[in-house]
Amino acid sequence: MFRKREKVEIIRAEHSGFCFGVDRAIDMAFKEAEKNDRTGNLYTCGHLIHNEAVVKRLEDMGVSMISSLSEASEGDTVIVRSHGEPQEFYEEAEARGITLVDTTCVFVKKIHHLALKAHSEGIPVVVIGDKEHQEVKATNGWCGYEAVVIGDAEEAKEQADRLKGKKPMVVCQTTIKQELLREILSVFDEEGVEYDIHNTICNATRDRQESCAKLASEVDAMVVIGDNHSSNSRKLYEIAKKHNENSFFIENSSNKQLNRLTKYTKIGYIAGASTPEWIIKEVISHMSENVNKNMEQNPMMDFMDDIEKSLRLPKPGDVVDGKIDQVMDDAVIVNMGCKKDGILRSDEVTLEEGQTLADLFKVGDEVKAKVIKSDDGEGGIMLSTKRLVVVENYAELEEAMENKDIITVTLTRAVNGGVIAAYKEITGFIPMSQLSDRYVENADEFLGQTFDVRVIRVDTKRNRAVFSRKAILVDEKRKAVAEIWENLNVGDIVEGKVMRFTDYGAFVDIGGVDGLLHISEISWGKLKHPEEVLKIGDIINVKILSLNEEKGKISLGLKQTQPEPWTLVGEKYQVGDVLEGKVVQIKEYGAFVELEAGLDGLVHISEIANKRVENVFDELKVGETVNVKIMEIDPEKRRISLSIKATLPEEEAAPEEKETVADAVEDAVLDAKEAADEAVEAVKEKAKDVIDAVKEAVDDVKEDVKEAAEKVSDAVQAAKEEAEFEVEKAKEEE
Ligand code: SF4
Repeated sequence: MFRKREKVEIIRAEHSGFCFGVDRAIDMAFKEAEKNDRTGNLYTCGHLIHNEAVVKRLEDMGVSMISSLSEASEGDTVIVRSHGEPQEFYEEAEARGITLVDTTCVFVKKIHHLALKAHSEGIPVVVIGDKEHQEVKATNGWCGYEAVVIGDAEEAKEQADRLKGKKPMVVCQTTIKQELLREILSVFDEEGVEYDIHNTICNATRDRQESCAKLASEVDAMVVIGDNHSSNSRKLYEIAKKHNENSFFIENSSNKQLNRLTKYTKIGYIAGASTPEWIIKEVISHMSENVNKNMEQNPMMDFMDDIEKSLRLPKPGDVVDGKIDQVMDDAVIVNMGCKKDGILRSDEVTLEEGQTLADLFKVGDEVKAKVIKSDDGEGGIMLSTKRLVVVENYAELEEAMENKDIITVTLTRAVNGGVIAAYKEITGFIPMSQLSDRYVENADEFLGQTFDVRVIRVDTKRNRAVFSRKAILVDEKRKAVAEIWENLNVGDIVEGKVMRFTDYGAFVDIGGVDGLLHISEISWGKLKHPEEVLKIGDIINVKILSLNEEKGKISLGLKQTQPEPWTLVGEKYQVGDVLEGKVVQIKEYGAFVELEAGLDGLVHISEIANKRVENVFDELKVGETVNVKIMEIDPEKRRISLSIKATLPEEEAAPEEKETVADAVEDAVLDAKEAADEAVEAVKEKAKDVIDAVKEAVDDVKEDVKEAAEKVSDAVQAAKEEAEFEVEKAKEEE
């Protein structure tokens, strides 16, 4: 009977398996091998990597190995290894019509560029490394084979005199130890050799060695997976053995030593930089089966989960955490604890003007980034912190839209239907109709400027954001109007400007809001049209008669700023006064004569002349100026009786005729008519007020309809402009 065992833990070293450069080289080689449109042969020049299984796989796919370019012919394709080749290799391939698939690691390429530049400027090049290593040979080939290659402190001493006073540029083989570099530089310092150092040591090897040592000291047993010919794998085994005597070197899943792992419950594993993932997976799977045989329960699933977890690659869109492994000029390598490294290019990082990646990142820093491509076609996982910022920025926009918050954008360029507006890392769109609260024909005047806007739409799936500046301006106006309303009180006398006329009055701007000055409130006298008293643009003082904030209505009065004539009539006029007046209205029973605006008196038919007047119209005309004498003043009834007759010279006065009964009847009829007229006038006034109120209401409705129509038109226009922009954007994206 099996004994119940505790769960077995299998831990992958933090840095393990293919480095970025090897991974890229393998990917490119396999992709090339899969192509079937080649006419010539496909070769690798030397072993692509030190791993038999990989080499065998490539051979099975028709990729042969040649040891020099001379073995290839015109039309053939040759894969350049990650270690790189000298400059002449490329020149020869071009001259002979040989296609190259260049998998030279970007870190190695950087060394080539440095060597070439220094050489062309006449600066001596020192390479610290193994002169027999392919990478060092290739680097030497980029500086005319004139590099001084130094492998240890001894050689540094030997070369010191030769380098003194020349200030050489120093680069390193990517896989040497930091200690070696330090040793050689201290020799230079001691010997007085000035130099310009470029530390080009790749962190991948160092990181693998360090994480191997760390893990080996923490587990019951340590497994190093790698090819026997791989020096970096053997080196890892040496390190593992040093820290844990139960260390095993495993080439592949058929290795018998795997059976010995059954007695351990905490097993660590690491793979050399040239060990492919499929070999790692096979070995770990096999190891798990062996362990499983000794277990009563079936923890296989947990076991495989652990393995899968360590092999799983993040997908585009995932947000990953990693540690900075290497910082270069144009990219940062990020270790995410999975089989491939992440590459964070400088154009995927938000950098301020003049800022470099080195200003932002240090090796060992933790970084959060968004996966934008799980495989860039060259073996790396492409990362972006900028797009993570974009995600955050979109979240900010969503929040701003929800809370109706104001954000600030910069208008960068005009497009079909509107302008592009930049908010942090996001480029949004402002439809032309939302650019201002006035009509905008051409957006050029706005470009380059910064404006406050409101977010009116966010589509995170399609990375779209639409803003409106108009919404802000309209709101600002609304606020300003509200402030004005707050300071308005019924009874206040305020200054205003006559803006426009209607049949029933004039609209007056009283500092940002318009009020209605009804025709009946303009003058104490009667007006047919406001124009009789006012002109557009006149600045006048008006009294606030009523306020209705809900409906946005203000009633104003002009006449109220002057005293009402009847209130002063007792002070200004006396019975017996002779005055000049204007005939303003003629009736059967007499004529109304205006003494001043709003103060009319009646000249009864019997007071028009010294003779009996049959028809008032025969004697007087409207508009005519006449002299009248005040016969009676009744302020309560608002009546003034006037007489023209009393102003006539005595001699003109005709002898008084005796009043007959008929005359008395006629006078009574006329008096009745006067009373009726007064009543009719009053009704007319009321009717006019009603008609004006109806007209005003109709105007209000018209305004409301116009406003609603404008809103609909605005929305339609904005949608149309957005659609135009979408078409343009779609074209650009294509
Ligand atoms: S060890 Fe470094 S330099 Fe060499 S191939 Fe790998 S990533 Fe490139």
